Amino acid sequence: MYILLFLICHWYLSLFSQTFFLHRYAAHKMFTMNKFWIKFFYVFSWITQGSSYLNARAYAILHRMHHAYSDTEKDPHTPHFFKDAFQMMLHTRKIYNDVLNKRVIVEDKFDRNFPEFTTIDKIADSWLMRLIFAAFYVLFYSAFATEWWMYLFLPIHFFIGPIQGAIVNWAGHKYGYRNFNSSDKSKNTLFIDFLLMGELFQNNHHQAGSKPNFAVKWWEIDPTYRIIWLFDKLKIIKLV
Ligand SMILES: [Zn+2]
Ligand SMILES: [Zn+2]
Repeated sequence: MYILLFLICHWYLSLFSQTFFLHRYAAHKMFTMNKFWIKFFYVFSWITQGSSYLNARAYAILHRMHHAYSDTEKDPHTPHFFKDAFQMMLHTRKIYNDVLNKRVIVEDKFDRNFPEFTTIDKIADSWLMRLIFAAFYVLFYSAFATEWWMYLFLPIHFFIGPIQGAIVNWAGHKYGYRNFNSSDKSKNTLFIDFLLMGELFQNNHHQAGSKPNFAVKWWEIDPTYRIIWLFDKLKIIKLV
């Protein structure tokens, strides 16, 4: 029971960091917030992503490239040039590391206007920190797992960010329906979006990249937007 609860909490908190902070804030700047909240959510995404921490600058740059070159060869993660999601993510990982370590020249228009705390990045991105988080997941499981097969869930914790990214990037540009006839191959994968909090409305999102609500039709629901709406009312953020 505790294991299931831990898995669900880790999944949705890490996902929330990715969709709310990295995607909608760092990459798209759909809302603003004061210095305190920027730092708060920066640390929040570090803690919730743990062993698979993603750097906000590298995430924002790759994501802006994804919008600019969607489903072309310059897209860092289109499913249309790879035989499976794993191959696609290996390719994405290489570009991510090149951008992160400044080994490639990034177009000026992508390489600006993102939150950056270099000290936090240095600590969060270190192998020691990643291993500490991984050890914590293993310790939690050894304290609360009641069946051997529960340990099979451990890799989800180790790689939670990339796993969520792989599902969104693969399914969201391959399976589902389209509301808009955009030039890319984005789709709305509604039937599994309850697992991805709005991220799978890729077709809607590509049509209007800076719109915070990814749902368009009355029967579509973007759960993250509901939270954004609430945060706006609570004055934690300010919608642009
Ligand atoms: Zn997309
Ligand atoms: Zn986007």
